[in-house]
Amino acid sequence: MILIVDDTPENLISLKKVLEKHNFEVDTALSGEEALKKVLKNEYVLIILDVQMPGMDGFEVAEAISGYSRAKETAIIFLSAANTDLKLIAKGYSSGGLDYITKPVDLDILLLKVKTFYRIYEQSRKLIEIQGALLDEIEFRKKAERKKDEFISIASHELKTPLTSVKGYVQLLARSVERGDIATVRKHLSKAQVQLEKLNDLIADLLDISKIESGKLEFNKKYFSLDTLLDGVLEVIHQVNPTFKVIKKGIAPQRIYADEMRIEQVIVNFLTNAIKYSPGTTEVHVNMLTKDGELYVGVRDFGIGIAPELQESVFEKFFRVEETSIHFQGLGIGLYISAEIISRHGGQVGVKSKPGEGSEFYFTLPLTPVEEMD
Ligand code: ADP
Repeated sequence: MILIVDDTPENLISLKKVLEKHNFEVDTALSGEEALKKVLKNEYVLIILDVQMPGMDGFEVAEAISGYSRAKETAIIFLSAANTDLKLIAKGYSSGGLDYITKPVDLDILLLKVKTFYRIYEQSRKLIEIQGALLDEIEFRKKAERKKDEFISIASHELKTPLTSVKGYVQLLARSVERGDIATVRKHLSKAQVQLEKLNDLIADLLDISKIESGKLEFNKKYFSLDTLLDGVLEVIHQVNPTFKVIKKGIAPQRIYADEMRIEQVIVNFLTNAIKYSPGTTEVHVNMLTKDGELYVGVRDFGIGIAPELQESVFEKFFRVEETSIHFQGLGIGLYISAEIISRHGGQVGVKSKPGEGSEFYFTLPLTPVEEMD
């Protein structure tokens, strides 16, 4: 918007008309004092300022405006008498663009100048916008880089722990074999196997991440019984965590169309998290519901829960709740992989949780086959 400041109403009206004819939005003020009030309230691209006015003159107005942060980018065109000392023009005002026109005003020249200032204003606004976007991008990349570094250090540690155990067990095995102590050999072998399993799971997760990143996570969808899958999963979970009771609630469909191994991976991830983040408890529920052509599977625990403001972030890559992360091992990628698997099946993941009371991690799947969701 342009502000014209002139104590002669006729001048104001004629300038206003010309500028409006050229599609500029125009505001007017009849004195320096009125102009200052308006500048405080509104944002102007350009002020056309009469130098000679009773009360505050144009230079005084410009000087006062230069102190307003709101008018930092505002340009000024002075309307001066032919004999005005032009050196005064620059006085006190150096932030926005400055120019002048001598009276009587040549409207063509004024229009030219107005258009030039507008163009400069548009360009500088675009530059500021681009600069803002670039700064955001740099910040985003820095954050991603930090997260990645953090992840690499956690991942190396997590990989090293089972590897060191396996090395230890193999040494012990060698000694037991030499002694011919078969009972101890068996014990060490089964311990090494558990550690190798851990290593295998970690590496599989890391490979999944890189497949997701490169768009190479593929699915092998077919019909299968969720009920049968669930029974198998619960058996394994029970073997590893004999103190936990996992209770099925609701009916699991006999026929769903999805990638069986990947759906198993999601359920196992939800269940192992439910157990891991619920120390001191002994029960986890698997709630199932089929409604409106959609399957709902929720894994409910009675553990530590998640603060409301963090619930949205738990499905992000590398996210771990910071306050609790020191007490529980993990890489912060399981839920991210689960979310990707479910969304590629046309379903949704989510969590309902209360700190100190527990969480329900759930996913939904459409029961009518969805071929490929990208
Ligand atoms: P990980 O468990 O390896 O850290 P996940 O991606 O599976 O990674 O989970 C991300 C984060 O979400 C966890 O670090 C934890 O802070 C939080 N979380 C996941 N499941 C639960 C749960 N059942 N109860 C409380 N917090 C959970």
